Amino acid sequence: MANTLFTSRLGGVSSPPFDSFNLASHVGDEVVAVAKNREILASMIGLPRNQIFFMTQVHSNGVAVIDKDSDPQSAPTADALFTTTPGFALVTLIADCTPLLLKSKSAVAAVHVGRKGLVAEVFEATLKVFNQHGVSNQEITGEIGPSICRDCYEVDLGTYREVVSLNPAAATDESRRCLDVAGGLAARLKSAGIEFWASQLCVRHTPGYFSYRRDEVTGRQAGVVWL
Ligand SMILES: [Zn+2]
Repeated sequence: MANTLFTSRLGGVSSPPFDSFNLASHVGDEVVAVAKNREILASMIGLPRNQIFFMTQVHSNGVAVIDKDSDPQSAPTADALFTTTPGFALVTLIADCTPLLLKSKSAVAAVHVGRKGLVAEVFEATLKVFNQHGVSNQEITGEIGPSICRDCYEVDLGTYREVVSLNPAAATDESRRCLDVAGGLAARLKSAGIEFWASQLCVRHTPGYFSYRRDEVTGRQAGVVWL
């Protein structure tokens, strides 16, 4: 059975502007506070800290496969983590981008899908790894967590047109140039035949979430999945 969790900014020990449940080590927060928050995450999900895996996210389509030989201290450079190992939790960190969790009976993945990841097709790359491990699309379900919404995510016109030409479902209104990344991702899941649930919360205009667009210097919340 697969389990999932989406965190908010509440429940941790970090000081402003990372208050309080910041799980990212690359944003300028105190190392000790992040370590404590990761311990809190471990106790929330009931797994030891050394069975929780993070990644160094670079807006790519890279997928890292985590297994018994993987080192929980080294966060591989990737935008998706995949595992078939029960009791290994995979984490995607976000503060506006769209967290996607994919799960089946025998494998799970945590995916970091922002605008660039949508264009780079990190979801499709992750799906391929499921398929290579003998899991068909029909056996997978998805969860799209809180991210910046279609009313909040304004980009320049060139970027808007590029993303929409590749992902028509990410379109809103060209005069406002706001992208619907979560909507674009949802359309990709639909066309792959994957059933999913999608959060309607916007991290930018909902209190209790980190948003880079709103605050710039801020923390990261997490999507977590494990077998
Ligand atoms: Zn919004």
